Amino acid sequence: MLQSFLLTARIGSGEYVSGGEPQVAVRLTFSRTARFSNLDKLGKRAMSVGANDDLNAASHTFTIKCNSQAMGLRFTEQILKDQTRAFRSILESATYDQQGVARFTTDPNAASPSRAEDFASVIRQLADFGRSLYRAIGTNAPKALRDELRDLAATSDKTIQVVRYDANFVFPWPVIYDYPLPKYKTGEPPAPVCLGGMDSAAGNWTKSCAHGPQNPGYCIYGFWSVRHRVEQLVQLGDPLRDDDPYVQANPNAVFIAVDKPDVYTQQMVDAVRQKISAAIEMSDSDDLLDLLWQSQKRPTLLIVLGHLETQEVTGEPSGARIVLQPNKQWLQANDITDRQLDVGDWDDLPRTLVLLMACGSATTDINTLNDFFKALRTAGAAAIIGTECTAFTALVSRFAREVTLDIWDKKSLGDAVKLFNRRLMAERNPLAFVFNYLGDADLTVVT
Ligand SMILES: [Zn+2]
Repeated sequence: MLQSFLLTARIGSGEYVSGGEPQVAVRLTFSRTARFSNLDKLGKRAMSVGANDDLNAASHTFTIKCNSQAMGLRFTEQILKDQTRAFRSILESATYDQQGVARFTTDPNAASPSRAEDFASVIRQLADFGRSLYRAIGTNAPKALRDELRDLAATSDKTIQVVRYDANFVFPWPVIYDYPLPKYKTGEPPAPVCLGGMDSAAGNWTKSCAHGPQNPGYCIYGFWSVRHRVEQLVQLGDPLRDDDPYVQANPNAVFIAVDKPDVYTQQMVDAVRQKISAAIEMSDSDDLLDLLWQSQKRPTLLIVLGHLETQEVTGEPSGARIVLQPNKQWLQANDITDRQLDVGDWDDLPRTLVLLMACGSATTDINTLNDFFKALRTAGAAAIIGTECTAFTALVSRFAREVTLDIWDKKSLGDAVKLFNRRLMAERNPLAFVFNYLGDADLTVVT
């Protein structure tokens, strides 16, 4: 999808509608290109989904388009909320055990006898859930779209685009599962989970098993965000820009803010600084917003790895905040928006690619993290990579390290995230679904 428009028509009982307002108005609601000057840089999308408001306030319509005409599917707000909540609750319970200890290690070499079965049970749960979402779309879709969905299920490494006309139209697209599932019979052991036959030792991250539309199985490749790239875009602010999908590297290459250094965050900082010598860590005297609002200092990549605090604490600002410097500096969505309103947008390059890695142990409200995404994206960030729920520092540090290095090696944002998902899954850690991004999947850093 390159552009979309909202057509509003006033309808009267007679042959015309009286009054001075226009009777038919067309408004540009989303655009990846204003003057079509960047078409050669915009990659093809296998499928585009627009998530829009309905006239009926309690429901939303997904407009889905592959190659044939666009189809509208209507879902009630309650269904969207329930599904998003159910998805997050699976992720939360896969993150911690009853004692608050991590259920899955992020250490690729750690062996645990119970890990394979624990992993399989979470994957079966996610696949059952993702398949029920896929069925809900399929049963509501016309035949032409069902045919196209089947074609999509038989392919790999495509890009699925989701445009949220309102940033709060969240839906768990990455977990949609389009392979048929094995029949479970009561009393029998559950079906095994397939890792896609990948040869991780050889670094060959392509699917080599037979699972697909005609071959049922619990296979990590059945999930959209493992097999394809799932790009989410939000229409915010001014659509009249021809944004090229790249971030220009500058001398202030990478800025890293870590609130509580530990062995995992240190590994991440060391690896990034070894690769990118211009990477700097936040110090006591730095003010993050001051830095972001000066184009000479604004970094190409910003990595924030901080505790997300929502409780009231004496001496700290109230409301959701990400700790940047303990007891000293916090990041709040409203402060970002206020700075934008008072000082202006990031009109000049670079538009920073932000890795907003919130960690902590509390279950967050669905919109809390989304508020940070929205504020940064509106101010001018090229893309935001974030977490779906809060996670351990071990996991977010590893994600930040591997994705940053891959992006610096000229992999696109979408490929870097997809490859991370495949690596983590192949190690039998199901928490790849914790991460998502708002921005163009083709986005690359130009060094
Ligand atoms: Zn498989």
